[in-house]
Amino acid sequence: MPIRFYNSITRKKEIFQPIKDGEVGMYTCGPTVYDYAHIGNFRTFIFEDLLKRYLIHRGYKVYHILNITDIDDKTIKRSKDENTPLGQMTEKFTGYFMNDSKWLKIIPANEYPRATDYIPKMIEMIQILLKRKYAYTMDDGSVYFNIQSYPDYGQLANLELKFQRSTNRVANDEYAKDDPQDFALWKGWKEEDGDVVWDAPWGKGRPGWHIECSAMSNYYLGEHFDIHCGGVDNIFPHHENEIAQSKCATNHKFVNLWMHSEHLMVEKGKMSKSVGNFYQIKDLIDLGYSPENVRYQLLSGHYRTRISFSSNKKHEGDRVINRISDLRSRLIELGAISLANGELPAEYGIFINKLDDDLDAPGAMSIFFQWMRNLNTKFDKGLYNDVDIGKSWEFLCALDSIFGIVKVESTNIPPKIICLADEREEARKLGDWSKADKIRDIVRSKGWIIEDLSVGYKIKNSE
Ligand code: AMP
Ligand code: ZN
Repeated sequence: MPIRFYNSITRKKEIFQPIKDGEVGMYTCGPTVYDYAHIGNFRTFIFEDLLKRYLIHRGYKVYHILNITDIDDKTIKRSKDENTPLGQMTEKFTGYFMNDSKWLKIIPANEYPRATDYIPKMIEMIQILLKRKYAYTMDDGSVYFNIQSYPDYGQLANLELKFQRSTNRVANDEYAKDDPQDFALWKGWKEEDGDVVWDAPWGKGRPGWHIECSAMSNYYLGEHFDIHCGGVDNIFPHHENEIAQSKCATNHKFVNLWMHSEHLMVEKGKMSKSVGNFYQIKDLIDLGYSPENVRYQLLSGHYRTRISFSSNKKHEGDRVINRISDLRSRLIELGAISLANGELPAEYGIFINKLDDDLDAPGAMSIFFQWMRNLNTKFDKGLYNDVDIGKSWEFLCALDSIFGIVKVESTNIPPKIICLADEREEARKLGDWSKADKIRDIVRSKGWIIEDLSVGYKIKNSE
Protein backbone atom coordinates (compact mmCIF):
# COMPACT_ATOMS: atom_id res chain seq x y z
CA MET A 1 0.00 0.00 0.00
CA PRO A 2 1.44 3.44 -0.87
CA ILE A 3 1.79 6.07 1.85
CA ARG A 4 -1.03 8.61 1.73
CA PHE A 5 -1.13 11.86 3.68
CA TYR A 6 -3.84 14.47 4.02
CA ASN A 7 -2.77 17.64 2.24
CA SER A 8 -4.24 20.74 3.92
CA ILE A 9 -4.15 22.72 0.67
CA THR A 10 -6.09 20.22 -1.50
CA ARG A 11 -8.13 19.01 1.48
CA LYS A 12 -7.70 15.37 0.47
CA LYS A 13 -5.46 12.39 1.12
CA GLU A 14 -2.81 12.07 -1.58
CA ILE A 15 -0.22 9.44 -2.42
CA PHE A 16 3.11 10.62 -1.06
CA GLN A 17 5.67 11.15 -3.78
CA PRO A 18 8.80 13.15 -2.93
CA ILE A 19 10.37 15.40 -5.55
CA LYS A 20 13.62 13.39 -5.44
CA ASP A 21 13.29 9.63 -5.15
CA GLY A 22 14.00 8.41 -1.63
CA GLU A 23 14.70 11.89 -0.20
CA VAL A 24 12.39 14.24 1.66
CA GLY A 25 12.88 17.94 2.38
CA MET A 26 10.80 18.98 5.37
CA TYR A 27 10.32 22.38 7.01
CA THR A 28 8.57 22.71 10.36
CA CYS A 29 7.78 26.04 11.98
CA GLY A 30 9.67 26.12 15.24
CA PRO A 31 8.98 27.83 18.54
CA THR A 32 8.68 31.54 19.13
CA VAL A 33 11.27 31.80 21.86
CA TYR A 34 9.72 34.35 24.21
CA ASP A 35 8.79 31.77 26.85
CA TYR A 36 9.02 28.05 27.63
CA ALA A 37 7.27 25.89 25.02
CA HIS A 38 4.15 24.23 26.47
CA ILE A 39 2.97 20.72 25.73
CA GLY A 40 0.45 22.08 23.20
CA ASN A 41 3.45 23.22 21.17
CA PHE A 42 5.03 19.83 21.81
CA ARG A 43 1.96 18.06 20.49
CA THR A 44 2.81 19.63 17.15
CA PHE A 45 6.54 18.95 17.47
CA ILE A 46 5.87 15.31 18.41
CA PHE A 47 3.47 14.89 15.49
CA GLU A 48 6.28 16.18 13.26
CA ASP A 49 8.70 13.81 14.97
CA LEU A 50 6.32 10.91 14.31
CA LEU A 51 6.06 11.90 10.64
CA LYS A 52 9.82 12.11 10.33
CA ARG A 53 10.47 8.86 12.22
CA TYR A 54 7.90 7.12 10.02
CA LEU A 55 9.44 8.38 6.79
CA ILE A 56 12.86 7.26 8.03
CA HIS A 57 11.41 3.88 9.00
CA ARG A 58 9.98 3.53 5.49
CA GLY A 59 13.43 4.11 4.05
CA TYR A 60 13.45 7.83 3.20
CA LYS A 61 16.35 10.12 3.89
CA VAL A 62 14.81 13.14 5.59
CA TYR A 63 16.41 16.58 5.57
CA HIS A 64 14.61 18.49 8.31
CA ILE A 65 14.76 22.20 9.04
CA LEU A 66 13.18 23.59 12.22
CA ASN A 67 13.48 27.35 12.56
CA ILE A 68 13.72 29.36 15.73
CA THR A 69 11.53 32.49 15.66
CA ASP A 70 13.76 34.82 17.63
CA ILE A 71 12.30 38.06 16.33
CA ASP A 72 8.62 39.01 16.16
CA ASP A 73 6.11 41.15 18.06
CA LYS A 74 6.06 38.78 21.08
CA THR A 75 9.82 38.39 21.49
CA ILE A 76 10.35 42.15 21.32
CA LYS A 77 7.62 42.74 23.90
CA ARG A 78 9.02 40.15 26.32
CA SER A 79 12.57 41.48 26.07
CA LYS A 80 11.27 44.97 26.82
CA ASP A 81 9.10 43.76 29.72
CA GLU A 82 12.04 41.83 31.18
CA ASN A 83 14.49 44.58 30.39
CA THR A 84 16.81 41.96 28.89
CA PRO A 85 18.50 42.30 25.49
CA LEU A 86 16.50 40.43 22.82
CA GLY A 87 19.34 38.04 21.91
CA GLN A 88 20.00 37.10 25.53
CA MET A 89 16.32 36.40 26.23
CA THR A 90 15.75 34.34 23.05
CA GLU A 91 18.94 32.29 23.57
CA LYS A 92 17.74 31.35 27.06
CA PHE A 93 14.39 30.03 25.79
CA THR A 94 16.01 28.37 22.76
CA GLY A 95 18.19 26.44 25.22
CA TYR A 96 15.14 25.32 27.23
CA PHE A 97 13.40 24.26 24.02
CA MET A 98 16.41 22.16 22.96
CA ASN A 99 16.58 20.48 26.39
CA ASP A 100 12.84 19.73 26.44
CA SER A 101 13.02 18.31 22.90
CA LYS A 102 15.89 16.07 23.93
CA TRP A 103 14.04 14.87 27.03
CA LEU A 104 11.06 14.03 24.83
CA LYS A 105 13.31 11.94 22.55
CA ILE A 106 12.55 14.14 19.56
CA ILE A 107 15.06 13.36 16.79
CA PRO A 108 17.13 16.52 16.24
CA ALA A 109 16.55 18.53 13.07
CA ASN A 110 19.40 18.86 10.59
CA GLU A 111 19.44 22.64 11.07
CA TYR A 112 17.90 25.10 13.54
CA PRO A 113 18.15 28.45 11.73
CA ARG A 114 17.50 31.50 13.88
CA ALA A 115 15.56 34.18 12.02
CA THR A 116 17.94 36.98 13.03
CA ASP A 117 20.78 35.25 11.14
CA TYR A 118 18.88 35.43 7.82
CA ILE A 119 17.85 39.09 7.59
CA PRO A 120 19.84 39.69 4.32
CA LYS A 121 17.99 36.77 2.70
CA MET A 122 14.65 38.27 3.80
CA ILE A 123 15.64 41.70 2.42
CA GLU A 124 16.60 40.06 -0.88
CA MET A 125 13.18 38.40 -1.15
CA ILE A 126 11.33 41.60 -0.26
CA GLN A 127 13.30 43.44 -2.95
CA ILE A 128 12.15 40.94 -5.56
CA LEU A 129 8.54 41.30 -4.38
CA LEU A 130 8.81 45.11 -4.64
CA LYS A 131 10.36 44.90 -8.11
CA ARG A 132 7.59 42.58 -9.30
CA LYS A 133 4.96 44.90 -7.82
CA TYR A 134 3.56 42.37 -5.35
CA ALA A 135 4.58 44.67 -2.52
CA TYR A 136 4.62 48.40 -1.81
CA THR A 137 6.45 50.68 0.61
CA MET A 138 4.97 53.09 3.14
CA ASP A 139 6.30 56.42 4.36
CA ASP A 140 7.30 54.94 7.73
CA GLY A 141 9.74 52.53 6.05
CA SER A 142 7.37 49.54 6.18
CA VAL A 143 6.74 47.22 3.23
CA TYR A 144 3.42 45.44 2.71
CA PHE A 145 2.37 42.54 0.51
CA ASN A 146 -0.63 43.40 -1.68
CA ILE A 147 -2.92 40.40 -1.41
CA GLN A 148 -5.01 41.56 -4.41
CA SER A 149 -1.95 41.13 -6.61
CA TYR A 150 -1.89 37.38 -6.01
CA PRO A 151 -5.10 35.74 -7.30
CA ASP A 152 -4.54 32.44 -5.45
CA TYR A 153 -4.39 34.15 -2.05
CA GLY A 154 -6.59 32.24 0.39
CA GLN A 155 -6.21 28.78 -1.19
CA LEU A 156 -4.73 27.11 1.90
CA ALA A 157 -7.10 28.68 4.41
CA ASN A 158 -10.01 28.22 1.97
CA LEU A 159 -10.94 31.92 1.83
CA GLU A 160 -13.31 33.27 -0.78
CA LEU A 161 -11.28 36.34 -1.60
CA LYS A 162 -13.29 37.25 -4.72
CA PHE A 163 -15.93 38.67 -2.44
CA GLN A 164 -13.56 40.57 -0.27
CA ARG A 165 -12.15 43.80 -1.54
CA SER A 166 -10.19 44.66 1.53
CA THR A 167 -7.77 47.54 1.11
CA ASN A 168 -6.80 47.58 4.76
CA ARG A 169 -3.41 46.56 5.96
CA VAL A 170 -2.30 44.88 9.13
CA ALA A 171 0.98 45.41 10.94
CA ASN A 172 0.43 42.65 13.53
CA ASP A 173 1.96 39.24 12.87
CA GLU A 174 -1.28 37.47 13.79
CA TYR A 175 -4.85 38.36 12.80
CA ALA A 176 -8.19 36.70 12.14
CA LYS A 177 -8.99 34.48 9.16
CA ASP A 178 -12.20 36.37 8.38
CA ASP A 179 -10.25 39.58 7.95
CA PRO A 180 -7.59 39.01 5.29
CA GLN A 181 -5.54 42.14 4.71
CA ASP A 182 -2.29 43.32 3.18
CA PHE A 183 0.35 42.15 5.62
CA ALA A 184 3.73 43.50 6.68
CA LEU A 185 6.85 42.05 5.06
CA TRP A 186 8.95 44.65 6.82
CA LYS A 187 8.01 46.88 9.74
CA GLY A 188 9.51 50.37 9.76
CA TRP A 189 11.42 51.19 12.94
CA LYS A 190 9.40 52.62 15.85
CA GLU A 191 10.75 53.99 19.06
CA GLU A 192 9.52 51.01 21.06
CA ASP A 193 11.70 48.71 18.91
CA GLY A 194 14.75 50.27 20.56
CA ASP A 195 17.96 48.75 19.20
CA VAL A 196 16.16 45.88 17.45
CA VAL A 197 16.76 47.29 13.99
CA TRP A 198 18.34 46.45 10.64
CA ASP A 199 19.04 48.63 7.60
CA ALA A 200 17.19 47.91 4.38
CA PRO A 201 17.23 49.77 1.04
CA TRP A 202 13.73 51.22 1.75
CA GLY A 203 14.37 52.15 5.37
CA LYS A 204 15.44 50.72 8.71
CA GLY A 205 13.22 48.32 10.61
CA ARG A 206 12.68 44.60 11.14
CA PRO A 207 11.11 41.71 9.23
CA GLY A 208 7.51 40.52 9.60
CA TRP A 209 7.12 37.00 11.00
CA HIS A 210 5.91 35.38 7.76
CA ILE A 211 8.83 36.39 5.52
CA GLU A 212 11.20 34.74 8.01
CA CYS A 213 10.01 31.22 7.19
CA SER A 214 9.84 31.92 3.43
CA ALA A 215 13.47 33.06 3.50
CA MET A 216 14.83 30.27 5.72
CA SER A 217 13.01 27.46 3.91
CA ASN A 218 14.23 28.83 0.57
CA TYR A 219 17.80 29.05 1.90
CA TYR A 220 17.93 25.41 3.06
CA LEU A 221 15.42 23.55 0.92
CA GLY A 222 15.22 25.61 -2.27
CA GLU A 223 12.23 27.18 -4.03
CA HIS A 224 10.20 23.98 -4.16
CA PHE A 225 10.27 21.29 -1.50
CA ASP A 226 8.26 18.35 -0.19
CA ILE A 227 6.64 18.92 3.21
CA HIS A 228 5.81 21.93 5.36
CA CYS A 229 4.19 21.40 8.77
CA GLY A 230 2.84 23.28 11.75
CA GLY A 231 -0.14 23.39 14.07
CA VAL A 232 -3.54 24.34 12.61
CA ASP A 233 -3.22 27.86 13.99
CA ASN A 234 -0.31 28.35 11.57
CA ILE A 235 -2.60 27.90 8.54
CA PHE A 236 -3.83 31.47 8.66
CA PRO A 237 -2.25 33.91 8.34
CA HIS A 238 1.26 32.47 8.68
CA HIS A 239 1.31 29.71 6.07
CA GLU A 240 -1.10 31.46 3.73
CA ASN A 241 1.26 34.43 3.71
CA GLU A 242 4.33 32.25 3.31
CA ILE A 243 2.81 30.73 0.17
CA ALA A 244 1.98 34.17 -1.28
CA GLN A 245 5.47 35.56 -0.63
CA SER A 246 7.37 32.48 -1.79
CA LYS A 247 5.38 31.87 -4.97
CA CYS A 248 5.48 35.51 -6.01
CA ALA A 249 9.20 35.85 -5.27
CA THR A 250 10.21 32.67 -7.10
CA ASN A 251 7.50 32.09 -9.76
CA HIS A 252 7.64 28.52 -8.59
CA LYS A 253 5.42 26.06 -6.77
CA PHE A 254 6.43 26.36 -3.10
CA VAL A 255 5.46 23.22 -1.17
CA ASN A 256 3.91 19.94 -2.34
CA LEU A 257 2.41 18.76 0.94
CA TRP A 258 1.06 20.86 3.81
CA MET A 259 0.42 18.96 7.05
CA HIS A 260 -1.08 20.48 10.19
CA SER A 261 -1.77 18.97 13.56
CA GLU A 262 -4.86 19.82 15.56
CA HIS A 263 -4.64 21.47 18.90
CA LEU A 264 -4.04 20.05 22.30
CA MET A 265 -6.86 21.25 24.52
CA VAL A 266 -7.36 21.69 28.23
CA GLU A 267 -10.92 21.44 29.47
CA LYS A 268 -12.28 22.32 26.03
CA GLY A 269 -10.01 25.37 25.58
CA LYS A 270 -6.91 25.51 23.38
CA MET A 271 -3.80 25.19 25.49
CA SER A 272 -2.03 28.48 24.94
CA LYS A 273 0.61 30.66 26.47
CA SER A 274 -1.55 33.79 26.32
CA VAL A 275 -4.40 32.14 28.29
CA GLY A 276 -2.00 30.59 30.80
CA ASN A 277 -3.77 27.18 30.88
CA PHE A 278 -0.76 25.11 30.00
CA TYR A 279 1.67 22.50 31.26
CA GLN A 280 5.33 22.84 30.49
CA ILE A 281 7.75 19.94 30.36
CA LYS A 282 9.22 20.94 33.72
CA ASP A 283 5.71 20.64 35.26
CA LEU A 284 5.34 17.12 33.88
CA ILE A 285 8.77 16.10 35.16
CA ASP A 286 7.69 17.35 38.61
CA LEU A 287 4.52 15.26 38.32
CA GLY A 288 6.65 12.17 37.68
CA TYR A 289 5.94 11.70 33.98
CA SER A 290 8.38 9.73 31.85
CA PRO A 291 9.12 11.03 28.35
CA GLU A 292 7.59 7.83 26.97
CA ASN A 293 4.33 8.48 28.81
CA VAL A 294 4.14 12.06 27.49
CA ARG A 295 4.82 10.84 23.95
CA TYR A 296 2.17 8.15 24.37
CA GLN A 297 -0.42 10.69 25.57
CA LEU A 298 0.33 13.06 22.72
CA LEU A 299 0.31 10.35 20.06
CA SER A 300 -2.74 8.48 21.28
CA GLY A 301 -5.11 10.70 19.27
CA HIS A 302 -4.89 11.05 15.48
CA TYR A 303 -2.92 14.19 14.61
CA ARG A 304 -5.94 15.71 12.83
CA THR A 305 -8.25 15.41 15.84
CA ARG A 306 -8.24 17.55 18.92
CA ILE A 307 -7.10 15.81 22.06
CA SER A 308 -7.17 16.98 25.62
CA PHE A 309 -4.41 16.51 28.12
CA SER A 310 -5.29 15.51 31.63
CA SER A 311 -3.04 14.32 34.43
CA ASN A 312 -5.81 11.76 35.23
CA LYS A 313 -4.50 9.74 32.30
CA LYS A 314 -0.99 9.50 33.73
CA HIS A 315 -1.59 6.24 35.55
CA GLU A 316 -3.01 4.50 32.49
CA GLY A 317 -0.05 5.79 30.44
CA ASP A 318 2.44 4.44 32.98
CA ARG A 319 0.74 1.04 32.85
CA VAL A 320 0.99 0.90 29.06
CA ILE A 321 4.63 1.99 29.04
CA ASN A 322 5.52 -0.52 31.77
CA ARG A 323 3.84 -3.34 29.88
CA ILE A 324 5.91 -2.56 26.79
CA SER A 325 9.03 -2.32 28.92
CA ASP A 326 8.26 -5.68 30.58
CA LEU A 327 7.90 -7.27 27.16
CA ARG A 328 11.30 -5.86 26.26
CA SER A 329 12.90 -7.38 29.37
CA ARG A 330 11.17 -10.68 28.74
CA LEU A 331 12.39 -10.82 25.14
CA ILE A 332 15.95 -9.93 26.17
CA GLU A 333 15.91 -12.72 28.73
CA LEU A 334 14.83 -15.11 26.03
CA GLY A 335 17.83 -14.16 23.90
CA ALA A 336 15.81 -12.10 21.39
CA ILE A 337 18.67 -9.82 20.37
CA SER A 338 20.66 -12.66 18.83
CA LEU A 339 17.55 -14.39 17.45
CA ALA A 340 16.26 -11.37 15.49
CA ASN A 341 16.98 -11.57 11.77
CA GLY A 342 14.77 -8.93 10.17
CA GLU A 343 11.66 -11.12 9.97
CA LEU A 344 8.46 -9.65 11.38
CA PRO A 345 5.10 -11.04 12.51
CA ALA A 346 2.04 -10.74 10.24
CA GLU A 347 0.54 -8.05 12.49
CA TYR A 348 3.39 -5.72 11.51
CA GLY A 349 1.89 -5.47 8.00
CA ILE A 350 -1.45 -4.29 9.44
CA PHE A 351 0.37 -1.88 11.75
CA ILE A 352 2.19 -0.34 8.75
CA ASN A 353 -1.02 -0.13 6.71
CA LYS A 354 -2.53 1.98 9.48
CA LEU A 355 0.41 4.37 9.44
CA ASP A 356 0.45 4.48 5.63
CA ASP A 357 -3.09 5.79 5.87
CA ASP A 358 -2.36 9.37 6.94
CA LEU A 359 -0.36 8.37 10.03
CA ASP A 360 -3.09 6.60 11.96
CA ALA A 361 -1.03 6.37 15.14
CA PRO A 362 -3.88 5.28 17.47
CA GLY A 363 -4.91 2.58 14.96
CA ALA A 364 -1.34 1.29 14.68
CA MET A 365 -0.79 1.32 18.45
CA SER A 366 -3.97 -0.65 19.02
CA ILE A 367 -2.76 -3.33 16.57
CA PHE A 368 0.51 -3.50 18.49
CA PHE A 369 -1.20 -3.75 21.90
CA GLN A 370 -3.54 -6.49 20.71
CA TRP A 371 -0.54 -8.42 19.34
CA MET A 372 1.37 -7.86 22.60
CA ARG A 373 -1.53 -9.22 24.67
CA ASN A 374 -1.73 -12.37 22.53
CA LEU A 375 2.03 -12.80 22.62
CA ASN A 376 2.18 -12.58 26.42
CA THR A 377 -0.55 -15.23 26.66
CA LYS A 378 1.45 -17.49 24.32
CA PHE A 379 4.63 -16.90 26.32
CA ASP A 380 2.81 -17.61 29.60
CA LYS A 381 1.71 -20.95 28.20
CA GLY A 382 5.21 -21.70 26.87
CA LEU A 383 3.84 -21.75 23.31
CA TYR A 384 6.70 -20.10 21.45
CA ASN A 385 9.85 -20.85 19.56
CA ASP A 386 13.02 -18.99 18.60
CA VAL A 387 11.46 -17.64 15.41
CA ASP A 388 8.59 -16.07 17.41
CA ILE A 389 11.08 -14.48 19.79
CA GLY A 390 13.17 -12.99 16.97
CA LYS A 391 10.14 -11.64 15.13
CA SER A 392 8.74 -10.13 18.31
CA TRP A 393 11.98 -8.31 18.96
CA GLU A 394 11.89 -6.83 15.44
CA PHE A 395 8.30 -5.60 15.95
CA LEU A 396 9.19 -4.02 19.27
CA CYS A 397 12.14 -2.24 17.65
CA ALA A 398 9.89 -1.03 14.82
CA LEU A 399 7.41 0.34 17.37
CA ASP A 400 10.19 2.17 19.15
CA SER A 401 11.79 3.60 16.04
CA ILE A 402 8.43 5.10 15.01
CA PHE A 403 6.85 6.08 18.35
CA GLY A 404 9.78 6.36 20.76
CA ILE A 405 7.71 4.85 23.58
CA VAL A 406 9.86 1.93 24.64
CA LYS A 407 11.47 2.68 27.97
CA VAL A 408 14.93 1.25 28.38
CA GLU A 409 15.59 0.27 31.98
CA SER A 410 17.81 2.84 33.60
CA THR A 411 21.26 1.66 34.56
CA ASN A 412 21.48 3.76 37.70
CA ILE A 413 21.31 0.66 39.89
CA PRO A 414 24.30 0.79 42.27
CA PRO A 415 26.94 -1.86 41.42
CA LYS A 416 26.72 -3.15 45.01
CA ILE A 417 23.03 -4.00 44.52
CA ILE A 418 23.82 -5.80 41.26
CA CYS A 419 26.51 -7.86 43.07
CA LEU A 420 24.02 -8.81 45.80
CA ALA A 421 21.42 -9.76 43.21
CA ASP A 422 23.98 -11.91 41.37
CA GLU A 423 24.94 -13.59 44.65
CA ARG A 424 21.25 -14.28 45.34
CA GLU A 425 20.81 -15.72 41.86
CA GLU A 426 23.71 -18.09 42.55
CA ALA A 427 22.08 -19.13 45.84
CA ARG A 428 18.77 -19.74 44.04
CA LYS A 429 20.48 -21.93 41.47
CA LEU A 430 21.96 -23.97 44.32
CA GLY A 431 18.55 -24.22 46.02
CA ASP A 432 19.74 -22.21 49.04
CA TRP A 433 16.39 -20.48 49.53
CA SER A 434 17.10 -19.08 52.98
CA LYS A 435 20.23 -17.30 51.72
CA ALA A 436 18.32 -16.06 48.69
CA ASP A 437 15.55 -14.62 50.91
CA LYS A 438 18.05 -13.00 53.24
CA ILE A 439 19.79 -11.23 50.34
CA ARG A 440 16.46 -10.11 48.93
CA ASP A 441 15.62 -8.48 52.30
CA ILE A 442 18.99 -6.70 52.43
CA VAL A 443 18.44 -5.37 48.91
CA ARG A 444 14.91 -4.23 49.84
CA SER A 445 16.21 -2.40 52.91
CA LYS A 446 18.46 -0.42 50.55
CA GLY A 447 15.47 0.67 48.43
CA TRP A 448 15.57 -1.92 45.63
CA ILE A 449 13.38 -4.84 44.69
CA ILE A 450 14.54 -8.02 42.98
CA GLU A 451 11.87 -9.51 40.80
CA ASP A 452 12.32 -13.11 39.68
CA LEU A 453 11.68 -13.80 36.03
CA SER A 454 11.34 -17.17 34.33
CA VAL A 455 14.98 -16.77 33.39
CA GLY A 456 17.08 -14.44 35.52
CA TYR A 457 15.83 -11.45 37.47
CA LYS A 458 15.03 -7.78 37.24
CA ILE A 459 15.98 -5.01 39.70
CA LYS A 460 13.51 -2.20 40.32
CA ASN A 461 13.54 0.87 42.48
CA SER A 462 11.10 0.28 45.35
CA GLU A 463 9.73 3.85 45.28
P1 AMP B 1 4.68 29.15 18.63
O1 AMP B 1 5.79 28.98 19.64
O2 AMP B 1 3.51 29.90 19.16
O3 AMP B 1 5.21 29.76 17.35
O4 AMP B 1 4.14 27.71 18.29
C1 AMP B 1 4.97 26.63 17.93
C2 AMP B 1 4.11 25.53 17.32
O5 AMP B 1 3.15 25.05 18.26
C3 AMP B 1 3.30 25.98 16.09
O6 AMP B 1 3.40 24.98 15.08
C4 AMP B 1 1.89 26.10 16.61
O7 AMP B 1 0.94 25.88 15.60
C5 AMP B 1 1.85 24.98 17.64
N1 AMP B 1 0.84 25.12 18.71
C6 AMP B 1 0.56 26.20 19.48
N2 AMP B 1 -0.42 25.92 20.39
C7 AMP B 1 -0.77 24.62 20.20
C8 AMP B 1 -1.70 23.71 20.82
N3 AMP B 1 -2.47 24.05 21.85
N4 AMP B 1 -1.78 22.44 20.34
C9 AMP B 1 -0.99 22.03 19.31
N5 AMP B 1 -0.08 22.83 18.69
C10 AMP B 1 0.04 24.11 19.12
ZN1 ZN C 1 6.92 29.50 10.18
